[in-house]
Amino acid sequence: MNTPNGLSEVLQALKLESAQELCLHLPLRYEDKTRLVPLAALREGDKVLVEGEVFSIEVAQQRRKQLKILLREGATSFLILRWLNFRASWLSGITKGQRLRAYGVVRRGHDGFEIVHPTLSTQITKPLELSLTPIYSTVEKMPEARVRYWVLKSWSQYKASWSELLPASWLERLNMPALPDALGYLHQPPPDALTDKLQDRTDSAWQRIKLDELIAQHIALKRLALERKTLQAISLAHPQELAGALLAALPFQLTAGQQSVVETLWSDLAKDQPMHCLLQGDVGSGKTIVAIMAALSALAAGYPVAFMAPTDILATQIAEKAKCWLEPLGIKIILLTGSLGVKAKREALQKAALGEAIFWIGTHALFQEKVHVPRLALVIIDEQHRFGVQQRLALKHKGGEVGEEIVASEISTLQPHTLMMSATPIPRTLAMSYYADLDVVTLTERPAQRQPITTCRVAMDRRHEVIDKVRRTAEAGQQIFWVCPLIEASEVLDLQAAQDTYEELAAVLAPLRVSLLHGRMSGAEKSSIMERMRAGEVDILIATTVIEVGIDIPNATLMVIEHAERFGLAQLHQLRGRVGRGSLPSTCVLLYANPLSQSAKARLAALHDHDDGFEIARQDLKIRGPGELLGARQSGVPMLRYADLTEDIELIEIASKIANRLLKDHSDIADKYLERWVGWRSVLAYA
Ligand code: ADP
Ligand code: MG
Repeated sequence: MNTPNGLSEVLQALKLESAQELCLHLPLRYEDKTRLVPLAALREGDKVLVEGEVFSIEVAQQRRKQLKILLREGATSFLILRWLNFRASWLSGITKGQRLRAYGVVRRGHDGFEIVHPTLSTQITKPLELSLTPIYSTVEKMPEARVRYWVLKSWSQYKASWSELLPASWLERLNMPALPDALGYLHQPPPDALTDKLQDRTDSAWQRIKLDELIAQHIALKRLALERKTLQAISLAHPQELAGALLAALPFQLTAGQQSVVETLWSDLAKDQPMHCLLQGDVGSGKTIVAIMAALSALAAGYPVAFMAPTDILATQIAEKAKCWLEPLGIKIILLTGSLGVKAKREALQKAALGEAIFWIGTHALFQEKVHVPRLALVIIDEQHRFGVQQRLALKHKGGEVGEEIVASEISTLQPHTLMMSATPIPRTLAMSYYADLDVVTLTERPAQRQPITTCRVAMDRRHEVIDKVRRTAEAGQQIFWVCPLIEASEVLDLQAAQDTYEELAAVLAPLRVSLLHGRMSGAEKSSIMERMRAGEVDILIATTVIEVGIDIPNATLMVIEHAERFGLAQLHQLRGRVGRGSLPSTCVLLYANPLSQSAKARLAALHDHDDGFEIARQDLKIRGPGELLGARQSGVPMLRYADLTEDIELIEIASKIANRLLKDHSDIADKYLERWVGWRSVLAYA
């Protein structure tokens, strides 16, 4: 088993580079083979190593062939070892009267205690283990025992390269073990170690490892932030006059929260270092106007601004708002979407090259085709979470990340400021970890006159009642979104096709006006349908998830989500956010098909119980885990292996402080941290 080249195979299987790295491959769990438990002392549920004499061997012919070995210790203690399927050849090595060791979980069977499918050993003279047996994660075709062998060997060989990096006085204050002690303890815990604490990773050795991982992470992200501080940007003055004119013309007043965020952004934009800011605020909290206010500072000073939205529909909607609000102030707005004709597009691009103070609005895809916008002073990225973590971490020096394809300036040393917006608010601990390289500002309140949204869960067999509610709502002059998951029937998923739903509802609800919107329509078609919806010419809009983000139709008060159980929590919250945007009370109906899986049930319950996006995000994190939430799983960005961003909140705060100290006073130690936690070193490679 332990072939000389076993190490390289193990490293390859685990995608690690060196035996030193293998030392950080920590056990998933432990088995206790340090002691033999007397058969008389067995307790149900314990996982134990026992030894006894084979008293009888029995092959029972029940529904299937079963093997039952009765183990005896002393005169009166017995244990049944049971196999529900077995090979006859197993039996040949075992004889009555022989002594055996067995390892497994004790349960109570018909005839007393038994272990089903125990691990057997005939080597009863072998000394017992001196420490708990670590069990490591592995991949298919790589036996765990081989991983274990090489991890333990690497650990004994390379202990020295895991010396403590933090000053002893810090450790003392933290009341934590030194790193090498913690690693040693986790690889080979003493027999009296508290297995529960090891298992749920709460003992101090685990805490120490997590802390180190988090420190490395914070160092990596903070270095990125520091690097950015060395870059130059155009300093933009507060656009008092223009802003005053806009505010006077708005049909509403900014909330206190919006005002204060705008002030913060203006101050950041006035610096000659590029702003790099994430504005997070729940759906409907009014981020758009904040972004437009920020844009004024560039436009007033004669610089162009680029606003990127994830979809054509959204870009169009923003452009309409911007036109309505900004054109009267003499600001020029140009919309770049996929539905733009070739000629119009060429003209637009030529115009862009002039670098005039124009408010450019478009989709990310469009901007990626190397739109040259010289003198670009500010890039705004709406619904930033849709663009994934990768682009965010892929911090290129030239141009502003997602907008990196925008060639910003003929004076290439000047960076545009970047404002990202996300309606998927992330919990503070996550923000600290993932956005340590960003400034985060938050809109916490929603505009005052908003009514809460009632959310109800309705099983499919009551779908007709929902249709009645749709009819009543439309007859009362309000509008409805009806969301279906797919546009074409898929045999596999058995989802109700939007097409069918459209035909069905159009027939049932006639003469109400029903329209269909889906992702395969051209941009022009989509825009025209949204236009009619906005104008109140459509009562019920049947749509796929193309309407998920950003759509703003205040007269829409009912959202029906069909097969809600198939959507993710964040997506459901986004969809629900399409209603409740005006002054009328709204309802969101989650139509689901039984049977619900455990996690689907949890998602629907979370949505029903919470309307605060922050709480929803927290629930999402609980149900799914942080990797998925941030979409980082596909991004190639190393995730935390040991620390848990929902559980280890205290550690995150400590790590953040330590990272700051190291960066300030001990940059050599900071370097070593990144060196050790290789994953985080690679984050810097993006920069
Ligand atoms: P989101 O944060 O989800 O992008 P929007 O910017 O689309 O939200 O704003 C939602 C709706 O609220 C829009 O119709 C917008 O015009 C309106 N709105 C924004 N701010 C206020 C405010 N202070 N008072 C009233 N309505 C507002
Ligand atoms: Mg928005």
